[in-house]
Amino acid sequence: MKDAKVRLYVDHPLGDGQSVPLERDQAHYLFGVMRLALGAHVLLFNGKDGEWRAEVIKAGKRAGELACVEQTKPLQMPPDLWLIFAPIKKARTDFIVEKAAEMGAARILPIQTEFTNSDRIRQDRLQAHAVEAAEQCGGTYVPEVADLKKFERLLADWPEDRQLMFCDEAEIGTAKALGAASGEKWAILIGPEGGFSPAERKRLHAHPQAHVVSLGPRILRADTAAVAALTIWQQKFGDW
Ligand code: SAM
Repeated sequence: MKDAKVRLYVDHPLGDGQSVPLERDQAHYLFGVMRLALGAHVLLFNGKDGEWRAEVIKAGKRAGELACVEQTKPLQMPPDLWLIFAPIKKARTDFIVEKAAEMGAARILPIQTEFTNSDRIRQDRLQAHAVEAAEQCGGTYVPEVADLKKFERLLADWPEDRQLMFCDEAEIGTAKALGAASGEKWAILIGPEGGFSPAERKRLHAHPQAHVVSLGPRILRADTAAVAALTIWQQKFGDW
């Protein structure tokens, strides 16, 4: 069996014998950058049909086509965990999205809080980061990156069956942990560089599904806090 060195996300159905047309940038990457030729094998996934080994059946500079040969992995869904965070500087926001995808978040929701640094995001760019992270880590699922939403709207629309792990910097040193909390649907909430406002903290402390958590005795940067919280949650409830 030929080695498949490239792993690619495609927005196309995958299945036995299924042919998969390539987009221009994918053809450039496979044939221009990776120098693959006719007959080479590539691993494909689309977030729905698992991972497939596919063979190059047409190779051009701007176009190409692959044909699925065999399924190499079934679809592996992550736990039903959302990561909610307030966007920070560009590179650190990219880092949060990449790590959330690698660590098994099912959805990534940027929110605008009172002290959030930016009032807009490039959702398409962040989604592309989630795709790249899934390509690199061997995942068969790609978390959706939602559009920026206001904090109040998020809480107003909060689903009754979803628990909220509220990482509160004001609880530093209290050793508050998830304890005996349970439930299948969860969300982790991380604040911006400036933290949560007093009014936001009050609302969150009064929220019936919120579990207030401390991430240790030091103030973590938001990107570090996201990774720490994902680790704690995955270790306790997730698929690690
Ligand atoms: N400016 C805030 C302050 O000085 O208190 C710190 C905000 S921190 C950089 C960004 C976010 O990371 C916080 O809103 C919180 O969600 C999370 N975080 C950081 N350290 C934490 C800790 N030790 N316990 C709980 N959450 C923490």
